[in-house]
Amino acid sequence: MLLEQSFITNLLNKQRQFFATGKTKNIDFRIEQLKRLKQGVLDYQEKIAAAVKADLNRPKFEAYFELSFLTEINDGIKKLKSWAKPQRVSTPIEQFPARAKIYQEPLGVVLIIGAWNYPFQLVISPLFGAIAAGNCVIIKPSEIAVNTSEVVADLIAHTFDSSYIAAITGGVETSQQLLVEKIDHIFFTGGTKVGKIVMEAAAKNLTPVTLELGGKSPCIIDDCIQLEYTAKRITWGKFINAGQTCVAPDYLLVNKSIKSDLLEKIKQSIDEFYGDNPVNSPDYGRIVNKKEFNRLNDLLKEGKIVIGGETKSEERYISPTVIEGVNWDSGIMQEEIFGPILPVLEYENLDEAIALVNSRPKPLSLYFFSRNKQKQKQVLREISSGNVCINDTVMQFAVPSLPFGGVGNSGIGSYHGKASFDTFSHYKSVLNKGLWFDLNIRYAPYKNKVGLIKKIICR
Ligand code: NAD
Repeated sequence: MLLEQSFITNLLNKQRQFFATGKTKNIDFRIEQLKRLKQGVLDYQEKIAAAVKADLNRPKFEAYFELSFLTEINDGIKKLKSWAKPQRVSTPIEQFPARAKIYQEPLGVVLIIGAWNYPFQLVISPLFGAIAAGNCVIIKPSEIAVNTSEVVADLIAHTFDSSYIAAITGGVETSQQLLVEKIDHIFFTGGTKVGKIVMEAAAKNLTPVTLELGGKSPCIIDDCIQLEYTAKRITWGKFINAGQTCVAPDYLLVNKSIKSDLLEKIKQSIDEFYGDNPVNSPDYGRIVNKKEFNRLNDLLKEGKIVIGGETKSEERYISPTVIEGVNWDSGIMQEEIFGPILPVLEYENLDEAIALVNSRPKPLSLYFFSRNKQKQKQVLREISSGNVCINDTVMQFAVPSLPFGGVGNSGIGSYHGKASFDTFSHYKSVLNKGLWFDLNIRYAPYKNKVGLIKKIICR
């Protein structure tokens, strides 16, 4: 059911009034709210697991990936006082007498819009940063993960007053209703296409945005590797959540000399993880809805299936699938796959592989498997991507001290840990001058002062 626009406007006004009381600027208040959030999430863990099971057939083990940001909250509670403390910085001598400091301040009322693939984490993890930085927040979870969206709304309503933090469920229209309002920051997770729509709407109000987008994340595999671990780590990163992971390796670019050995090991890993018939595995997910299933099913018509390829439309099941015989012009290489289909392309030398990746939009994540340190350095130097993981997949997302975000088409800005706090903060520069002394040089008349200004400026 579509909300009245006045409901949203009133909610925003209520939050603005609460923000204006200054309560959220108090560090003890923020710490208290982070503790409430943590307790709320812990209290709701069974409901969250049940909701992601209903939305994505996510096994309980993988449901806990949704709560991985709890370590960030623990860390934030410990470090918030030092993060928020004004930072003294140096001042040039000609400013004497003066002190310069950088003050952290919240932005105001911020909006968090989430995607459906990790539907809890993608709205509640940024919420940690927004609370820590002292903002009021409106959350719009994805309507596609309908069960999790309801759990998010329930948790937020039970944990916070809506004049401080509120969750609004709804689809594209609700998102659009929120976007026409004047908001102090928009944190959006979703596809590149919608990211552009969000940025356009934000521009009308000059609202700053963080865009956590997607794209095709390459996985380059050199010939100098440990085959078994490489295969396991690729198989895991690609097929968790049935491939519906923004940082999943989208395609393999593998050194020709080891391709068949690697594919053999990937096949073994799939068997080991999910058994001969993954449709019966309690540990393998499903595609989120029929529309996504049909889109992925069409992609299966490309190239030659070398592993998997089984589907069950009524269950929205697609088995872990590996495809060969596609090229850079194939449809599957034009869009983010976002499902359990792994195309494999080969290369003969690393320069060629790097050039191929660089001919595409900058990826969200880049994976490189190699023991060779020189080649590792070359890849880091020559390819630009949001983030990189060497000799593993996906795990860079789970290091709170590493800011997470894209570059170019894969996003703007970053979050996780301290970076989340920074994203929802304004850093206000303050120069505080003493009144007990005044250096006369800057005042007119300038006669006989040019030599001195030259000495100060042109050094
Ligand atoms: P999406 O862009 O379709 O939707 C995301 C959100 O935007 C939803 O809440 C939706 O209601 C809203 N929305 C959709 N169309 C809109 C419109 N026209 N105007 C305003 N709002 C609109 O994305 P999705 O299908 O939910 O998620 C998949 C995409 O998200 C993939 O590209 C994936 O890579 C990306 N993703 C990125 C990250 C990351 O951290 N970088 C994480 C997860 C997913």
